[in-house]
Amino acid sequence: MASIFDTSIEFLKGVGPQKAVMLNKDMGIFTFGDLLQHYPFRYEDRTQFYTVATLPNDASVQLRGVLTHFEMVGELRKQRLVAEFRDQTGKIELVWFKGAKWVLKSLKLNTEYVVYGKATSFNGKTTIAHPEINIYKPTNDQEGFLQPVYHTSETMKKKFLDSKAIAALQKNLLAQILTQIPETLPDYILKHYGLIDKQNAVLNIHHPKDHKLLGRARARMKFEELFYIQLKLFKEKGLRKNTFKGQIFKRVELLTTFYNDYLPFPLTGAQKKVIKEIRQDFISGKQMNRLLQGDVGSGKTIVAFIVMLMAIDNGTQSCLMAPTEILADQHYQGLKEFADILGVSIAKLTGSSKTAERRKIHEGLVSGDLKIIVGTHALLEDKVQFKNLGLSVIDEQHRFGVAQRSKLWNKNKSVFPHILVMTATPIPRTLAMTVYGDLDVSVIDEMPAGRKPIKTIHSYDSGRSRVFGFMREEIKKGRQVYVVYPLIEESEKLDLKDLTDGYESISRAFPDVPLSIVHGRMKPEDKDYEMKRFVKNETKIMVATTVIEVGVNVPNASMMIIENAERFGLAQLHQLRGRVGRGAEQSYCILMTDVKLSKEAKIRMETMVRTNNGFEIADVDLQLRGPGDMEGTQQSGVMDLLMADLAKDQEILKEARYCAENVIEKDPQLELLENRVLQQHIASLKKSVVNWGRIS
Ligand code: ADP
Ligand code: MG
Repeated sequence: MASIFDTSIEFLKGVGPQKAVMLNKDMGIFTFGDLLQHYPFRYEDRTQFYTVATLPNDASVQLRGVLTHFEMVGELRKQRLVAEFRDQTGKIELVWFKGAKWVLKSLKLNTEYVVYGKATSFNGKTTIAHPEINIYKPTNDQEGFLQPVYHTSETMKKKFLDSKAIAALQKNLLAQILTQIPETLPDYILKHYGLIDKQNAVLNIHHPKDHKLLGRARARMKFEELFYIQLKLFKEKGLRKNTFKGQIFKRVELLTTFYNDYLPFPLTGAQKKVIKEIRQDFISGKQMNRLLQGDVGSGKTIVAFIVMLMAIDNGTQSCLMAPTEILADQHYQGLKEFADILGVSIAKLTGSSKTAERRKIHEGLVSGDLKIIVGTHALLEDKVQFKNLGLSVIDEQHRFGVAQRSKLWNKNKSVFPHILVMTATPIPRTLAMTVYGDLDVSVIDEMPAGRKPIKTIHSYDSGRSRVFGFMREEIKKGRQVYVVYPLIEESEKLDLKDLTDGYESISRAFPDVPLSIVHGRMKPEDKDYEMKRFVKNETKIMVATTVIEVGVNVPNASMMIIENAERFGLAQLHQLRGRVGRGAEQSYCILMTDVKLSKEAKIRMETMVRTNNGFEIADVDLQLRGPGDMEGTQQSGVMDLLMADLAKDQEILKEARYCAENVIEKDPQLELLENRVLQQHIASLKKSVVNWGRIS
């Protein structure tokens, strides 16, 4: 049924064919409904002005004043428009690099303007780059003092479709359709959470009556947005749980032997808790789809082994997939030690496995003689078939796509294997709720006892000789050191030069110390050879790009120097740092940077120095970068949020999630009369979060 919201935007009063084309092309607005959801990205409060004398640094500000001078300066690509802006208290500079000529044409001297933008101070001079600038129009209209500001494009502005024009269109639209906007939340939810009704909310988003109503309108819209994401996820999760049967693993013979006689160390409380959660899944009769989050070094491997034993105890097989050969090899070595003691057959399959070996492995898996297979992507090949695959463990999940995960599901056609995804990339809990909403999540939030927290130090490049001295002491004590350089694709050549220069200066400073070097341009065999020399303690210093980032385990390495640390994101710094601190010795991480750092880079360094807690770091990362750039969220659709901000709206997210969970618990299929509006609206939602748990 076509509704009024599907009406082509062309037919709105004030639009017409030409403007419609621009709205289509530049803003993706095709219908009445689209325009309604083109929300203001901020509001201008006509009563709130800063003065030049009291400007905060690095914050967005609104100022009122006049231009006293402006001109184009510089040549060619460096050409820019510079203007002097004054109010009663002082002057600042406004600069435009892009579209300068176009702005120049519109500027006037001695005219009162309202300027909005981010003011930054350097050497006593304050500048706003690319401010919004509008002629000041005093308003005595009390209602209109909170002006919505909408995104537009340069083309649109030239054709008089600026933010104000869009506000006018919204007015026309609301006049026509406001009373037809349906309520999308049931009454009992509105009442319980004190939310305002939908029509009131939409009206106040586009034309806020006052700050208070604007706040309530935004809260209502955010709640709705987050609530529906959660509701959908809970509904699908319920569906999956009721649809897919899982093998039941009740017997625990090998496991008991292992627990009683061979456990190499007491498990931490967190490890025990996670194993219990998985055990519950195994005896539930439902297929498990679980994400195991645990900081680097928290001991995920032994958990994986223990739950693999449960699968083997019950006549099935297990596989463990890792993203690289080195990691697969480390897992294989680690697990083989335990497997051999227990007499459980285990093999490794990677891209470099020889043909004869491969054939043997394939046969062993089909006959069921081979119980554990560890490997890389090679495990996904169609040739790899199992007699009865009971459990697939996937390490470092973000390296694998969803599609690959689903391939593993299909390795057992009669009953899907249980799936355990392990990741060391800490994702803030609130984000995980949204991104992995339909996976069950277990967290190892405790480090093995006796581990000394890594000491992190921030040093400037000028302190290098002291850092070298520090390295020398550690090496004298028999320890090993990593020196890591950034690798950014676009400037690979430059990075390689940094790395080789660094390698040379280290060779000169440590003439009698054997070194390894590893970078992405090397052949895989050479890389492997160098890595292995370091793992075997034949070399003492490993100079490398971030190829060593994931999973590598060299407990004797007690020091990591990260060069150009300002060029790494927080998640990556934390991952890198996790390569040390794996042994009993005190470990160190030294962040080397330039003296001049951006505000954000400073926060990153301070955060690293302050804490070793991956979740705390992930939270800071989320605040700094927003959810769209967080590792592991790229395909999740969380960037498509129109109103809510996962970094800022965590409280609303929690409430919305709790509410959604309760609704589904009481009414899994949304069949109750009171939930009819939920059922209808959920069906009409076009976009949704990618369903991580579902098979392709
Ligand atoms: P990650 O979670 O990063 O994969 P690992 O499983 O590699 O961590 O474990 C890191 C190190 O800690 C390994 O050397 C492992 O043997 C050790 N370890 C794991 N659990 C414990 C524990 N409960 N007590 C002591 N050491 C442990
Ligand atoms: Mg690991």
